[in-house]
Amino acid sequence: MALKRNIFLVEDEAHIQQLIQYNLEASGFLVSVFGSGEELLRQCASAIPDLFILDLMLPGIDGLEICRQIRLDARMRQIPVIMLTARAEEFDRVLGLELGADDYITKPFSVRELVARVKAIFRRTEGSQQAEGEIVRAGEIVLDPARHEAHKGDVRLELTLKEFELLKILMQNRGRVLTRDLLLEKVWGFDYFGETRTVDVHIRYLRQKIEDDDAKPLYIETVRGVGYRFV
Ligand code: CA
Repeated sequence: MALKRNIFLVEDEAHIQQLIQYNLEASGFLVSVFGSGEELLRQCASAIPDLFILDLMLPGIDGLEICRQIRLDARMRQIPVIMLTARAEEFDRVLGLELGADDYITKPFSVRELVARVKAIFRRTEGSQQAEGEIVRAGEIVLDPARHEAHKGDVRLELTLKEFELLKILMQNRGRVLTRDLLLEKVWGFDYFGETRTVDVHIRYLRQKIEDDDAKPLYIETVRGVGYRFV
């Protein structure tokens, strides 16, 4: 049997802690519960989980700050984060995604929904944890990182280096919203002082090459104000 997935949960309300822990453990996950972000981050110094579930409103540092610190830590940068938020305003949702949360659930939530989201994230990360060089397929598009080739159906796509890298990171993170800043960092490098508009321009060229109608893109979706998602 595969190793159990380990989930760290930060939640200050005891009954919600228990509800989440009980249901996730019943689904075969290991859950460690923390009452505050400080406790969680202390634990992370010695052990890191496969997934974080962070309550937004906490007594000490809040869920967004925890998320920010997780994303600044090279050991934890890639670990998925689900935010639990009582604030339903769109602004906060987008902010959560900008800071690198992978998903969010608005309270009050159905625990069945939460378990389903957790499973969906693990299915997705299993996909993206496939070896760097592994071939990725989506619809008619086939990308072969090892050979540095991409095809649409039988046609080889003539992509520039940056277009290829953009397509690769989008396809490897299929279904996940990637912010412009993240794409800029991953494709152009950490020290690149370009504008995030650079990303938009390259996405436009990429769409002209891979979409049937680049005015109605089917592969690369724009998430307004945030970034892009490969669907
Ligand atoms: Ca709370």
